[in-house]
Amino acid sequence: LERVLVVGGGMAGLHTVRSLREKGFQGAVTFLGEERHAPYDRPPLSKAVLAGSARGAVEKVDELAFAFDFAEAEVQCRFGERAVGWAPGVVTTGTGVELRYDRLVVATGSVPIQLGFGETLRTYEDSVRLRERINGGKPMAIVGAGWIGAEVATAARNAGTGVVVHEARDRPLAAIFPPAVGQAMTAWYAEAGVELKCSDPVTGPPPGVDHTLVAVGARPDTRWLGEAFHRAQDGSLLVSEYLETNVPGVFAVGDVAAYRSVRYGGRHIRVEHWDNALRGPQALVPNVLEGVGAELHDPVPYFWSEQFGRMVQYVGHHTSADRMVLRGDLSTPTWSVCWLDPHARLTAVLAVGRPRDLAQGRRLVTAGAVLDAARVADAGAALTTA
Ligand code: FAD
Repeated sequence: LERVLVVGGGMAGLHTVRSLREKGFQGAVTFLGEERHAPYDRPPLSKAVLAGSARGAVEKVDELAFAFDFAEAEVQCRFGERAVGWAPGVVTTGTGVELRYDRLVVATGSVPIQLGFGETLRTYEDSVRLRERINGGKPMAIVGAGWIGAEVATAARNAGTGVVVHEARDRPLAAIFPPAVGQAMTAWYAEAGVELKCSDPVTGPPPGVDHTLVAVGARPDTRWLGEAFHRAQDGSLLVSEYLETNVPGVFAVGDVAAYRSVRYGGRHIRVEHWDNALRGPQALVPNVLEGVGAELHDPVPYFWSEQFGRMVQYVGHHTSADRMVLRGDLSTPTWSVCWLDPHARLTAVLAVGRPRDLAQGRRLVTAGAVLDAARVADAGAALTTA
């Protein structure tokens, strides 16, 4: 094994490169990324970057960059260059260069779904443009009351900008959370002075606003890899629990990959969150260096969002078969929701302003702990099995 090529200059790519060197790989590492910047952290793009200089926030993309010395690690970086073609053992870039590899890691993330109008948010440049719009003070529309829609609406209101959010479903995050949670979140929009129009699937630019942000999700763009790879319907690469694609020697990690989860019954799941882009490479690299089977990728999914002055955190994975148990009152600033499966095992926790529930829940979900529903419902007591 002499040459590893990592395609995709985001967080998952960076952690792959870093981990290759940390685990002692001494061969050639080439790191290809379409954006012209070194890898940077994306969550601040819908939070601190939008807050603008008035709040002492980010002014340069370098402030978001992950600390890593590519020169010292002898990584050959090709930023500002896109992979456009694949054949066994070789990736072709947009400038016509052919990069040969012994192992290939695809970490190309995803791109926002476009509706044919409005702007989207994925890169630092998108965020700076959006900040200018928000601070321009003219009313804006957001399509999609998901995580990013809510965070941008928060930033707009903090800047004093009027904002209308159009949501196709009857409540925010209807695909993930039950009606009671969606109703609580609906109230957050109202409190912040955001007009939320639910059951309102827009098909063109909403009238009466200066600009529109479309935030209806993101999909991997893996077309450049051609036909040889197995994909899920959304274009993500289907990989094993060891993060290898169906093409031997080619791996995928981060937002681009739908991995086989042993924990969740062998289903392929795509986790589009920061924590997965951090942990995936840690499992991936042993499989690349020592052989497939060296390390399983099967974390309990975790993510957070900061919206309307609240820290919202979710750990685990629940289904509609699980029983929802409330800790606290949904109309107050802090509460949690736990989900118990039919065997009373804790499957997931949604914590709003209750980081302790999250931390304790994370341990219990990981352990598959069985809990007593009445005790779970006691918001004054710690979340434990005892
Ligand atoms: P990406 O970060 O998308 O990086 C992929 C890189 O590959 C990109 O730079 C892209 O340009 C490049 N690329 C794509 N195609 C090619 C190609 N053909 N050739 C070369 N390069 C290519 N998660 C949370 O858990 N909490 C949050 O609060 C949160 N906030 C977020 C806010 C925003 C605005 C966004 C966009 C995401 C947020 N996320 C959050 C999600 C988190 O940032 C992603 O899960 C994470 O960035 C995924 O990392 P990745 O490396 O897989 O993909």
